[in-house]
Amino acid sequence: MSQRITILPETLTNKIAAGEVVERPASVIKELIENSLDAGATDIIVEIVAGGRRLVRVTDNGHGMSREDALLSLERHATSKIKVDSDLEHLLTLGFRGEALPSIASVSRFTLATRESTSPEGTEIVVEGGRVRDVKACGMAPGTVITVEQIFFNMPARHKFMKSAETEAGHVADVVARLAVSRPDRAFTCISDDRELFRLQRSDLLRRLSLVVGKESSRHLFPVTGERGGISVHGFISGPGLVRSGTQGIYTFINGRFIRDKVVQHALMQAYRGVIDRGRYPVVALFIELPPGEVDVNVHPTKHEVRFRQQAVAHDAIQGTLEELLRDSPWLAPSTVTASVTSAAPVAAVPSVSQAHKERIAAAAQVSLQLPPRHQVPYGEPSGQPVAAPPKPTEPPAERNGAVNDPAPPFVAEQPPPEPTGYFSSLAIIGQFHNEYILCQSGGELVIIDQHAASERVAFQILKQQCQGGEVESQRLLFPETIELTFSEVAVAERFSGELAALGFELEPFGGTTLMVAAAPRMVARKAPVPLIRDILADIERFGSSAAFSDALESVLSRIACHSVIRGPHLLDHRQIRELLARMDQTDFAASCPHGRPVSHVVTLVELQKIFKRI
Ligand code: ADP
Ligand code: MG
Repeated sequence: MSQRITILPETLTNKIAAGEVVERPASVIKELIENSLDAGATDIIVEIVAGGRRLVRVTDNGHGMSREDALLSLERHATSKIKVDSDLEHLLTLGFRGEALPSIASVSRFTLATRESTSPEGTEIVVEGGRVRDVKACGMAPGTVITVEQIFFNMPARHKFMKSAETEAGHVADVVARLAVSRPDRAFTCISDDRELFRLQRSDLLRRLSLVVGKESSRHLFPVTGERGGISVHGFISGPGLVRSGTQGIYTFINGRFIRDKVVQHALMQAYRGVIDRGRYPVVALFIELPPGEVDVNVHPTKHEVRFRQQAVAHDAIQGTLEELLRDSPWLAPSTVTASVTSAAPVAAVPSVSQAHKERIAAAAQVSLQLPPRHQVPYGEPSGQPVAAPPKPTEPPAERNGAVNDPAPPFVAEQPPPEPTGYFSSLAIIGQFHNEYILCQSGGELVIIDQHAASERVAFQILKQQCQGGEVESQRLLFPETIELTFSEVAVAERFSGELAALGFELEPFGGTTLMVAAAPRMVARKAPVPLIRDILADIERFGSSAAFSDALESVLSRIACHSVIRGPHLLDHRQIRELLARMDQTDFAASCPHGRPVSHVVTLVELQKIFKRI
């Protein structure tokens, strides 16, 4: 009988485990910082070189390890955090699997230096691809320094999956920032290629939050706190004036651990039903605390998922606590909200919606009085010149830049309408139905046009032509807006700044992770360009490389087109309908809008006669 099965050597099993835990430099950093926090460190320094692809180092002032423990810590399933089965039920630490260090050491050149405060010297262990190369005494301050060089040097397949240094650096900074939010009582420093990205002293939650959601946004958050069924919920949440197009502004922590959980997310979105539009997401930092036995974190090696013992109770506690606050619409009252209980910093008063609205109209009216109507090169400065600081928004910018009195679809932009020749121009206009459909007649046919889909398609075509001609027409914004991003979004914006400029977007640094939108494609410059930019950055982050960007250009153009047209019913006058029809003739229709919906539909006289039983 032949023997087919062997037990794999540990260097190989560690590599396999690394496949789950170590995806990129940011995931190494997450594991190392979690270890530092578990070791009681109050000061954690993260350094990376080339986005962490060349080097990642985490230095802490935690309790350190003895030489014996340091050697043991590199063995698989070696942990100081649990001892017996039942400990799994009462986890109070972030780690417990005893897998991170051996996994990381198996796919990199790894140096662990550590010293207990009671020991006169430290221990340094050098590991290469999982093999211990050197163990020696070293002089160092109490604590632990772990240096990880050349991640995946021995796994070419994985190595290829890492992105550019800028992109990886963005992910690293996001991970450190997220962990910093989970522990405002610890100091964090993040250094990339000798540049200090941030240095955070111990502080309160709200101040920490401004790092991940942006300073301006953090002023528009409301403190929330509650307890139901033994589950306590506290943190900060946004009202309807501060939303995102994805879940990137949602930070949820269970017993101090950052998690992404469907139950939590669902409860949260349920609470926001009717408060924010569908397809929009709030900005939230929520800390959920419950007895460790009530939640299982041993679901996935990355520990980003959890399983609640009593799912419904957890769901109701989260939804109920949030609803209680949201029901009172705190954003409507001139708020005197103060920051978290532990903070002395007051949260800025949020003006009522109607007041902000009035201010916007007044501002828009003023501007249109000052500027010649057809020559809007706003803000007094030609492109490339320094621009005055933008006015401080009194609420998160929405519908600024003149959208208030936006009368018509965007294609009436400064270009002259085309000559009315072709099928659509030849149609006899009957009128508009429901302010959404244009009804026309052509001989024995009733032609119904979805004005929104048609406008979108026309806008798409114009954009595409401009793009093929080298550049999309850009317009400087009347009110340059600021956009607060995550570190990885900033990395994407920097990396693709050339491509974004060709699309008409000018984004300028505005301190930290805030950028200023100085110009946008003319088509959307009068709308709120910030949500569009967020969407585009999320799109291009997925593409990754410049080559992929050009492949996906059409989808970006269709996004801009989509944002450029007015949604919902909209009254058009005869001239506007004529112009739309003329532009439709210039458009290469595959009879669909960029979303694949049809643009027009024909009902023949015969069909009508059949409906009315005439034939
Ligand atoms: P886990 O965190 O799941 O226990 P790890 O492989 O991440 O597994 O770490 C193994 C052990 O090494 C830990 O249990 C801890 O005792 C020790 N250790 C790791 N990092 C540090 C650190 N920064 N300071 C002190 N001890 C550490
Ligand atoms: Mg660990």
